[in-house]
Amino acid sequence: MRIIRPTSGPHPPLPLSREEMDARGWDACDAIVVTGDAYIDHPAFGAGLIGRFLESLGLRVGVIAAPDLRDPAAFRVLGAPRLFWGITAGNLDSQLARLTVMRKRRRDDPYLPPALAERRPPNATIAYTARARQIARGVPVILGGLEASLRRFPYYDYWTDKVHRSILLDAKADLLVYGMAERALAEIVARLRRGAPLDGIPGTAGLRSGENGRDRTPPSINAAGPEPAHTETELPDFDTVAAPTEAGRLAFAAMTAAIHRNATASSPRPLAQRHGARWLIVHPPAAPLSPAEMDALYALPYTRRPHPAYGAARIPAFEMIRDSITTHRGCYGGCAFCALALHQCKTIVSRSRAGILAEIARVQSAQGFHGTLSDLGGPTANMYGTRCRRPAPCARSSCLTPRICPDLDADPRAWRELLHAARAVPGVRHVFVASGIRSDLALAQDDAVPGTLEALLSHHTGGRLKTAPEHAVDKVLAVMRKPPAAVQEAFMRRYKGAAEKANKTQQPVVEYYISGHPGCTLEDMLTLALHLKAARLQPEQVQDYYPCPLTLAAAMYYTGIDPLTGAPVAVARSDADKADQRALLLCHLPEFQIRARAVLLRLGRADLIGRGKHCLVP
Ligand code: SF4
Repeated sequence: MRIIRPTSGPHPPLPLSREEMDARGWDACDAIVVTGDAYIDHPAFGAGLIGRFLESLGLRVGVIAAPDLRDPAAFRVLGAPRLFWGITAGNLDSQLARLTVMRKRRRDDPYLPPALAERRPPNATIAYTARARQIARGVPVILGGLEASLRRFPYYDYWTDKVHRSILLDAKADLLVYGMAERALAEIVARLRRGAPLDGIPGTAGLRSGENGRDRTPPSINAAGPEPAHTETELPDFDTVAAPTEAGRLAFAAMTAAIHRNATASSPRPLAQRHGARWLIVHPPAAPLSPAEMDALYALPYTRRPHPAYGAARIPAFEMIRDSITTHRGCYGGCAFCALALHQCKTIVSRSRAGILAEIARVQSAQGFHGTLSDLGGPTANMYGTRCRRPAPCARSSCLTPRICPDLDADPRAWRELLHAARAVPGVRHVFVASGIRSDLALAQDDAVPGTLEALLSHHTGGRLKTAPEHAVDKVLAVMRKPPAAVQEAFMRRYKGAAEKANKTQQPVVEYYISGHPGCTLEDMLTLALHLKAARLQPEQVQDYYPCPLTLAAAMYYTGIDPLTGAPVAVARSDADKADQRALLLCHLPEFQIRARAVLLRLGRADLIGRGKHCLVP
């Protein structure tokens, strides 16, 4: 795949209006990207990155950003595209961007300026596709982005408490690109240009008609023994997995297990699933980009700013990431609640140091840069430069749990050298790692190269280091696929020693916890609250568990069983159960203490109410 490199600095942003198209002498766009976010010409924003990538393929690309669905002209502003519509809900799941897990409307939307904060519709992918279809019948509509990617298979929808069919059917789109889309999109563009069909492209999902579907005989997922590569594996059909019965839930769990096993298989197969008269075909993932391709992608001529149409309006997500740099893609943590590996893939692809330093040089020379790189990282910052030594394929979903794989080369030298070199770029005063680190990996890295943690603390934490132990009860951590509590305790001891050496004892670790995760009972949450009390920790960062489609944990939440082990899992399903767990975790805050008291009484732990040192609430 060839990405055209820019010849000089930033190019004007892609057009949002007919006037901008006229200024470029365009009568029509080849592709129009529709997004639920504001258009920010920065590689951390999906529409910005994909828009520039399509442009690098020689396409005339326009953007419709956060369109007002009440305005009939909103989708006509650029006319109809010649080749295709690319539809994405934006960087976030559209319902989660609008509502809290407790179903309260959020006051703002970090990916939109305040004046447009109400613009994002629920199920934006579906709503935008319907509008695009009205404008130009016959122009292919291609779905992408996180919302579509995680809904490529039937999924449990938290908001309706039901299993929905693949979003490809509900949106009535032609094709869905999942994961990181560049390689699949390059192939789609090449085929559309020569009028070739779009079937069989890695990293995509499509539909096959009933006629053709009946011609095929996909092997069963339960078939024993090795089967030939490139044959389709059949998942239980949609009606079966969506049935609100015990059998339906078991089938949903079996489907989830089959999808996850296929994702980590040495040669993943296409997955086929009957949806009524049609077959959903999800092709194996596209190969990750190479480091050189990643460097070229991030070297495209982004302005790294919101489109000038937004004027001086503040867009919170942009403020947060404007001076951040993506160093790698992928995550091999394999946490049950996280879809990252199913979206970006498990394999780490690290950009070259030269490519990252060149990007830093561009950032520091831009107007408004004040000398601080707010984040040099990726999904998990300290995975940069790590790799698997094993030549043979591997079926483990996590390289870190239940224990760190001996084949993982966790050598942190490439990461340390990168951070060191970034600090030496003229004009750069501070380089921070804000994207969070895995504490089990950090311990291994500090063992491999002593002083790694101290160097991180001395130069790169900007006041606080983020880790995500998520819980302190081993059986809950096992369900989450996180390391046992002893690992976090060992990390905290090591951190304390490193902080003393670095003279940074005032620098706290920010620990993230989840409340209401499958496998966590009220008693487990009480154990966590007591653990935090004993450690004198008062968490600020607490996430109410949300069942993210396609994850193992979402299947546990819906079915009450662990799809990979078949073991039953306790689930806090009602809003009251969730609120009880949250109250225990945040019982140091006055607004949660009435509820926490009631929970403690219910658990028979009145001894924890009062003024004593051991008490959780007054
Ligand atoms: S062999 Fe080990 S390091 Fe390599 S992918 Fe598998 S679990 Fe990860």
